[in-house]
Amino acid sequence: MTAFKTLDDIGDVTGKRVLVRVDLNVPMIEGAVSDRTRIEAAMPTIRELADKGAIVLLLAHFGRPKGAKNPTQSLSLVTGGVEDVLGHSVMFIPECVGEGAKAGIAVLAAGDVAVLENTRFYPGEETNDPAFADALAEIGDLYVNDAFSAAHRAHGSTEGLARRLPAYAGRAMEAELKALDAALGNPAHPVAAVVGGAKVSSKIDVLRHLVSKVDHLIIGGGMANTFLAARGVDVGKSLCEHDLVETANAIFDAADAAGCTIHLPYDVVVAKQFAPNPPTRTVNVHEVAADEMILDVGPAAVEALADVLKNCRTLVWNGPLGAFETPPFDTATAALAKTAAALTREGSLISVAGGGDTVAALNHAGVARDFTFVSTAGGAFLEWMEGKVLPGVDALKD
Ligand code: ADP
Ligand code: MG
Repeated sequence: MTAFKTLDDIGDVTGKRVLVRVDLNVPMIEGAVSDRTRIEAAMPTIRELADKGAIVLLLAHFGRPKGAKNPTQSLSLVTGGVEDVLGHSVMFIPECVGEGAKAGIAVLAAGDVAVLENTRFYPGEETNDPAFADALAEIGDLYVNDAFSAAHRAHGSTEGLARRLPAYAGRAMEAELKALDAALGNPAHPVAAVVGGAKVSSKIDVLRHLVSKVDHLIIGGGMANTFLAARGVDVGKSLCEHDLVETANAIFDAADAAGCTIHLPYDVVVAKQFAPNPPTRTVNVHEVAADEMILDVGPAAVEALADVLKNCRTLVWNGPLGAFETPPFDTATAALAKTAAALTREGSLISVAGGGDTVAALNHAGVARDFTFVSTAGGAFLEWMEGKVLPGVDALKD
């Protein structure tokens, strides 16, 4: 596992100003935080540092203010939510650099927690301007990054600051990195990957990377249609990127060369209209009619895929197997997710999943809690699946 320091290595923080990069990019309804998941995720780190007597200074972005101050995207709007979850008072400091920030911090005592203003109010944040990162570093003694979801961006509060102050991974970051390492870094083999979703075009780099890493690549969702078309299957009116058939063939070849088995559905659920509960047929992939769409993987294929998972030790999952938002096309995703959950509970499988729609699909199937780890970090999770170096993580390495 990549070496990085955690809160276990941080030493005595009493009275020290610890800049903690967290994810406070929470959804709001009528001025109130409507989903506290991200605030809750940061709590173990915030509480641990506050309990150890640090002056905890929370840095985060909120929305896309594009380098200008905008009162509707002020983190003052989120401070009350942080206070509620933490259970004691949290100060808001209306700057995150300069004299204003220093004056706000000067009145804080050991164990206090403060939210600093939106880092993206400053143009130097997203350009990773050295002068801005220097200014951030001036207001703190130590740096903790607990926002994996922002780690794919080389910004001042992610990469820049980690290169200027002693830097540590927070507890949520640490858990995420450990889970991802167990899934693709140093996994127990055999490893299976499920990749689904609408389009091949959005996940070409994911597929390319996975064939070199996993033993079984299970392709489902709309993107499977492009691979079926590459194999000469007539997919009718299904979503299919015919211009990517060459790309699909290159991925088949790369899988062959790497000893990775690609699994495509051999039976599918089709309909003539994409609407809730339309008339459907379950057919062999070679029997799709010209006016039909493939909207889910069929039951025979799901059973075969369950057998693949039973023989695997590790699973990484991104993308639903079917158009899961529209019943009954959630069936295959829910069934395979339940198998993965059961194998995880039995202790025979390490299961890691991520992606906006994937998390929604696993919640819908009621199994998200049974997976070993479910990442809510959209873009960062996908870039990690592509094998990219995440600048915010890279900067934590010692
Ligand atoms: P994630 O957000 O987890 O990365 P994606 O955004 O790649 O997942 O894919 C999710 C979308 O793919 C869903 O909206 C789902 O309806 C769609 N999808 C899955 N299978 C099909 C299919 N056979 N035809 C059309 N759309 C599909
Ligand atoms: Mg999506």
